[in-house]
Amino acid sequence: MSGKLVMGNWKMNGRLDSNRKLIKAMLEDAHINRDGVAIAAPHAYLMQLSDLLAASPMAIAAQDMSQFGLAGAYTGEVSAGMLHDIGCRYALIGHSERRQYLSETTAVLNQKLINALEAGITPVLCVGETLQQREAGDHLTVIRDQLDILAQLAPTRVIVAYEPIWAIGTGKVATLDQIREMHTCIKQHCRQTHGGAEAVRVLYGGSVKADNADATLAIDNVDGALVGGASLDVESFGIICQAC
Ligand code: 13P
Repeated sequence: MSGKLVMGNWKMNGRLDSNRKLIKAMLEDAHINRDGVAIAAPHAYLMQLSDLLAASPMAIAAQDMSQFGLAGAYTGEVSAGMLHDIGCRYALIGHSERRQYLSETTAVLNQKLINALEAGITPVLCVGETLQQREAGDHLTVIRDQLDILAQLAPTRVIVAYEPIWAIGTGKVATLDQIREMHTCIKQHCRQTHGGAEAVRVLYGGSVKADNADATLAIDNVDGALVGGASLDVESFGIICQAC
C-alpha cells in the first residue's frame, strides 16, 4: 500500500446541513483533502458526499451493505452494486456495533464480503475482542477466528480494521505494544492462511484522537486508522490525517 489510509466513520451522525459544513471545512484542510482519506457516512448521505467530494481525491465508504445479491426483492436493503454506482470505494463489514446490535453472523459477513468484491468495492473487515476476552488471554485466538472468514478471499483486495471493543468510544486506547502485537498476529495469520501471500493491510480503530494519532500511526505494521468520534471534528481529524 502506498501511504496510510485514514477512514472517518461517522456512524449514525450527520444531517444534510451539518454534513455540508463539515465537508466544506474538510476540503479546506490540505491534510484531509487528499488521497488516502475516506469518509464512511450513513447510506442516506452517501449521494450528498459523492456530490460534495466530486472534485476531491478523498474517497467515500459505506458503513454496511446488503448480504443479499446485487438486486432483488429485499425491502429496505442497499446492495453493493448500488453503493458502487454512487461512488463508494470502500465498505465497512462487520463493525462490532453491527455484530452486537444486529447480530451479524459469520455467514452473513461472508456473503457481504463476496458481494463487495463482486461489485468492485474494497471491504474493510472489522475485528475486535471484548475486554473480558482480552483479560482471559483469549484475544489472539478470538481475532484469528474472526479472520478465518477471509480464507477463501484474495487478501490483497481486503482491508482489516482491528478495533478492540473496549477501546471504541471509551477514550481507552490499546497500548502501542498491544496494537503492535495484534497487527503482527493479523498479518501473520492472513499470510499463513493464504500460503505466504502478501500481507493484508490493517487499520487500527478505537479512540484514535489528535493526541494519540502520531504514536499509533508510527507503528510500522499499522497501515492507517479507522476513526469514530474524532472524525466529526475537523480540527482533530486534520491532525490525525497529518499523522499519516
Ligand atoms: P471511536 O474512534 O469513537 O472510538 O470509534 C471507533 C470506531 O468504532 C470506528 O469504526
